[in-house]
Amino acid sequence: MSIVVQKYGGSSVADVGRIRQVADRVMRTKQAGHDVVVVVSAMGDTTDDLLALAKQVSPNPDRRELDMLLTAGERISMALLSMAIRDRGGDAISFTGSQSGIITNDRHVDARIIEVRPVRVQDELAKGRIVVIAGYQGVSYRREVTTLGRGGSDTTAVAMAAALGAEYCEICSDVDGVYTADPRVVPTARRIGTLSYEETQELAESGAKVLNAQAVEFAKEKGIAIFARATASALPGADASADGTVVRRHPPRQPGTVVGVASERDVIVLTAEAGPLGSGDVLALLDQHKVAGKQLHIAGDRLTLVVSRENLHAEAQMRAALADRFGARVRIADTLGAISVVGAGINASFDNVRRGSDALTASGAAIDGIATSSFRITWMIDRARLDDAVRLLHRSFLETLG
Ligand code: ADP
Ligand code: ASP
Ligand code: MG
Repeated sequence: MSIVVQKYGGSSVADVGRIRQVADRVMRTKQAGHDVVVVVSAMGDTTDDLLALAKQVSPNPDRRELDMLLTAGERISMALLSMAIRDRGGDAISFTGSQSGIITNDRHVDARIIEVRPVRVQDELAKGRIVVIAGYQGVSYRREVTTLGRGGSDTTAVAMAAALGAEYCEICSDVDGVYTADPRVVPTARRIGTLSYEETQELAESGAKVLNAQAVEFAKEKGIAIFARATASALPGADASADGTVVRRHPPRQPGTVVGVASERDVIVLTAEAGPLGSGDVLALLDQHKVAGKQLHIAGDRLTLVVSRENLHAEAQMRAALADRFGARVRIADTLGAISVVGAGINASFDNVRRGSDALTASGAAIDGIATSSFRITWMIDRARLDDAVRLLHRSFLETLG
């Protein structure tokens, strides 16, 4: 029998009524003849609420203790969903990340999965049971409880799908797929039927929340097809791209085509004139504080780095340590946001960079920096202008072509 992994996000299990609806959808999947593994997120804003609670106790909460706290959120959902399924006559059993065999490195708050040993999950499936797993969490080789970074339930689902040899992995959410931009920001955004792993990974890394970047990386590595769908949708039919998004190996589109626009608001930009100490010392200090950066650029003694606040929970401590060690040589800008356009081969010429820059400048947005990769162009601009800029670049790259 084919195994299907389904992940339901926080909004899909936000209250008891929604948990019951998810239970119905899981039961339908089982009745269609699949072995079903379900991965759940914490209910609604539980993770944010738990983080806010931690911040009340300490402005720089300890990372290990944060993991102990945050894993509780998904544990609540898994038990409630399992009860709801049993209430419908299904035979379900819930497991924590650790019980499901999700083994991670020993980095707290944004741990990486290094191995999945799903023995207990397989045993329960063999008994005909539906297995409900708490997303976003694992256990390290040192038997410490870890979490996988914000949005990490997607990663749990894909890693589990790979370990079980699942037919596909459904990521069910409040939106019916991956759009050309966040549909909450751009009303004219369109659902994209099929995306390649690379395109999806770049969109996720640029801030498109709908899929987690590490989850896509895993799916690519293991060749797992991801179906991004609405929780309210029917089960995927013969063509899952008709009413959702399918992420899989995909023949390249016409090179240079922009597939989507994404933005990230909650970032800080660190610049350093490292001087005699050198950039390596700045990076070593950031590592000590477990700060993960993106878009590192070093030229001579000058370093710039964009840091996402997503998994940064002791910012005050990090700032104090930087100031202590480097004084005014390290500066942190806290007014910028990143806006990106994504597509294979979009930097074959400077056409797209120029086009985006011209549009942004004409709208009055000052461009503070530009970074490119083979799949992406990112502009750093005033955070307050981000949503307008997303609508603007969506218009100029995705609505006026053809
Ligand atoms: P879940 O709790 O189910 O994991 P998330 O909040 O993490 O859901 O992700 C879904 C949200 O992502 C949507 O509500 C949507 O506003 C947002 N989003 C951002 N960019 C995109 C995009 N390109 N396509 C679809 N949704 C997007
Ligand atoms: N509950 C976690 C979060 O809010 C994990 C997830 O939802 O994927 O980030
Ligand atoms: Mg999510």
